[in-house]
Parts: sequence; structure tokens; C-alpha cells
Amino acid sequence: MGLINDCLCVFCNTELETREHLFLQCPTATLMWETAFTLSGLQFTFCSWDVFVERACSTWRGKSMLTMIMKLLLNALVYLLWEERNKRMFQGRSRPASELLKTVKDVISLQLRGRIFKRVDVNISLCNHWRIVDC
Ligand SMILES: [Zn+2]
Repeated sequence: MGLINDCLCVFCNTELETREHLFLQCPTATLMWETAFTLSGLQFTFCSWDVFVERACSTWRGKSMLTMIMKLLLNALVYLLWEERNKRMFQGRSRPASELLKTVKDVISLQLRGRIFKRVDVNISLCNHWRIVDC
């Protein structure tokens, strides 16, 4: 019937599925955040979900290339983790973290394709890591 009677995280099967765990503290989520932050030249620091969102709101302001990437990253990664959770839970299908990260890169690349940034905001390393063309 699709009813859920197991409250464990579908990624690690060891912790209760909470917003905090699913989107940030689960090893799968943490690996993806750490990798994505590294690709952006940033260091991911472990914290609570509320602190993470508060930092994002106060830090990722404006329309610089890095800020746009991080805003898209936050939305794309949370959406993909939720989508992957549902696929695993209801369809019995799963994708490795590497494939999820590739999908995040595709989303960011597509969203920023052709976008014109201020010259001072263009970062070749970011363009290469996130496959942003025409920047
Ligand atoms: Zn987990």
C-alpha cells in the first residue's frame, strides 16, 4: 500500500529520518555537501540545519557567480536528496552519491548557462568545476 512503518533513514538505515539527518547529518548528505563545497572552493562545516540555513541566508547574498552557485546548490541538493529518498522508499531504486552529484552539476550548469556575470565575479575554477559555459 506504500505505507511507511519504518522510520529509519533510507540512505544509512541506522538513524531516525529527520529533516536534520536526511538533509545534513546523514553520511550520504554530508559527503555531497562536502564535495559540493570543495568544488566551490569553500569548506563545509558541520552544524545544525537551522544554523546551516541561517548561514546560507546571511552569507549567500547578491548575484555573484559563487552566490548563484550556492543558492542553486542548496535548492538542488535538498530536492535531489528528497527525490532519492522517495525513489528508494517507494520504488526500490537507488542511485549512488556520485550520480546525484552529477545531477546537481547538470542543474547548476543548465541554470547558469549563458548567464552574464560581472567580470570581477567570474572565477575560472568555478566555471570548470560546475561546467558553466559562456561565463
Ligand atoms: Zn542516514
